[in-house]
Amino acid sequence: MTSQLSFDQQRNPNARGREERERILANPGFGQIFTDHMVSIDFTEGQGWHDARVEPYGPLVLDPATSVFHYAQELFEGLKAYRQANGAIVAFRPFANAARFNLSAARMAMPELPEETFVESLELLVQADRDWVPTTEGHSLYLRPFIIATQVGLGVNYPSKSYRYMAIASPAASYFAGGVKPVKVWLSTEYTRAAPGGTGFAKCGGNYAAAFVAQRQAVEQDCDQVVWLDAFEHRYVEEMGGMNLFFVFGDRLLTPALTGTLLPGITRDSILTFAAELGLTVEEGRISIEEWQDGCASGVLTEVFACGTAAVVTPVGSVKGADREWTVGDGTPGPVTLKIREELMGIQYGTRPDNHGWVHKIC
Ligand SMILES: *Cc1c(COP(=O)(O)O)cnc(C)c1O
Repeated sequence: MTSQLSFDQQRNPNARGREERERILANPGFGQIFTDHMVSIDFTEGQGWHDARVEPYGPLVLDPATSVFHYAQELFEGLKAYRQANGAIVAFRPFANAARFNLSAARMAMPELPEETFVESLELLVQADRDWVPTTEGHSLYLRPFIIATQVGLGVNYPSKSYRYMAIASPAASYFAGGVKPVKVWLSTEYTRAAPGGTGFAKCGGNYAAAFVAQRQAVEQDCDQVVWLDAFEHRYVEEMGGMNLFFVFGDRLLTPALTGTLLPGITRDSILTFAAELGLTVEEGRISIEEWQDGCASGVLTEVFACGTAAVVTPVGSVKGADREWTVGDGTPGPVTLKIREELMGIQYGTRPDNHGWVHKIC
């Protein structure tokens, strides 16, 4: 694939040797260790995108008055490169990430990057670091494209006139240690993640900065993750941490509708698409915490799971709020959750048919 920008490709003369790499890949954790290369592309108002390059991974030197440090004009994406059973290295729906990147960029008054350039930048990074794509089942190379405002100065009247797009890569085991272990979630009625007109649908770092205090509260409450509720009543479920939620009523799946305050997950969209083919009915709607609790009590709500690129499909085992606490089903991963997880990973790792053209071969 070619885009209009041409990438300068510099090899890292200090790339780690095979032995060190294999030692790291044996136990990669998540987002701790990065590969030997990174991608950078600069943007200057009037000139557009320029100086696209694959270069050795390393620190940045930035003026302390650089805009991103003060006004958080930043956004990111997250996707994975998978090594399939036949040896091919693939990405899953990278053009969907490219489109979402530009949707986020428009909200953050940042320049759009041509989708072909976004995808090509990831192809070149993965090709340069192909030996870093794990061979262990269930492991992958996590790709993190992002963009920062680079104008120097503290004026707040205009968005930055210059930006840098970058992409880095990190070998990844499972996001939550322990595989499909169900998580315990904390209902945050004190804090709000997003309100109408805000940035809830954009994948910007600021959403996460504002969420850490609630996530810390969840951990203090002996929970793994925070569940966000609507901004007005703190009653309707939106999403969980960095993942979307699905509620299973027997063979009917319900997921909160995209109202603008939740992140439009690509995993969410994929599950909505293929679940119907597995004989499940799917619905985008609204569910309150009372309906969640009552549904579990009466038994009509049989399973709840969260989904996202990093942690794939994760069962929700129990729920805790300021004045309530309950278990979902018997607290163990349910059959629908496991079937959805298996189907999704099967498509990504090439052991199930890719009926929708989602798998994008890199090398
Ligand atoms: C990235 C993200 C998701 C999941 O999106 P995927 O495209 O499925 O990885 C869900 N919620 C939030 C807040 C996110 O940042």
